[in-house]
Amino acid sequence: MDAPHRTALVTGAASGIGRATAEELAARGYAVLALDIDEPGLAELVASAEGAGGTIRTRRVDVSDQDAVRRAVTEEVAGSERLDAVVNCAASFVASGLEVTTEEWELALGVNVRGISNVVQAAHPYLARTPGAAVVNTASISARIAQPSRWTYNATKGAIVSLTRCMAMDLAVDGIRVNSVSPGWIWTPEVARAAAGDRERWEPIWGRFHLLRRLGEPVEVARAIAFLCSAEASFITGTDLPVDGGYLAMGPEGLGDDSTFAGTS
Ligand code: NAD
Repeated sequence: MDAPHRTALVTGAASGIGRATAEELAARGYAVLALDIDEPGLAELVASAEGAGGTIRTRRVDVSDQDAVRRAVTEEVAGSERLDAVVNCAASFVASGLEVTTEEWELALGVNVRGISNVVQAAHPYLARTPGAAVVNTASISARIAQPSRWTYNATKGAIVSLTRCMAMDLAVDGIRVNSVSPGWIWTPEVARAAAGDRERWEPIWGRFHLLRRLGEPVEVARAIAFLCSAEASFITGTDLPVDGGYLAMGPEGLGDDSTFAGTS
């Protein structure tokens, strides 16, 4: 169990990986400030955290709105003595390719890239006065590979890996570590929607994109994020941690157990 009275800010906390992270950090003794645009989702998070004995406050904010983020962070964090961790999970999943519109680019860049910048910029004064403070951004395996018709999503995820390195350089002088995680396919509401809710059908298919032959759970990413926030990761900064069940380790031969793999090279 980590030390009590630590505080964390988590964006995208109403759902999926962000929600699991808010719950995981609350269970480890952090007082969590949960931000999202989804108010009913935030209310569900609070109800479940109350059952588990965690401390979670919420606020509706659109991370792409720089002024709103600054106001929210100032009003919600200024009263506390410290801000130990900022975790950026909020994302737009807009995935568009050759036909991409200006609006789609603005949404993807606004939430996924500028959103992280807005939050870290607003949180910086509080992180800087907290010894051992850390930021974790959520990138993706999609940062490293080509996927069809996904210019917006994949480019913004690549940008997050790059942004993380630059933030790590600039914030190191204040003792703040900055890293990212790159999840593989995690069973969150977004992935469940793509599967029309039919996990039994799609897990065996999508699971084979991973060495571990299954999809990940949100809590498995949340635990990696909690590690990067903790003193256990005190000499880790400016890097990306795949939490992907071996997705990025696999080559084009796949798992090697079908008839197209000669296995001789
Ligand atoms: P999710 O849809 O369950 O959660 C995303 C949350 O972000 C939602 O609660 C949504 O309301 C919030 N959000 C969207 N726009 C916002 C805005 N403008 N301001 C504030 N909040 C906003 O998604 P998830 O699958 O848990 O994804 C979390 C993170 O993990 C994302 O960064 C995503 O790109 C990344 N990721 C997910 C997977 C996966 O398989 N699920 C894989 C790789 C990376």
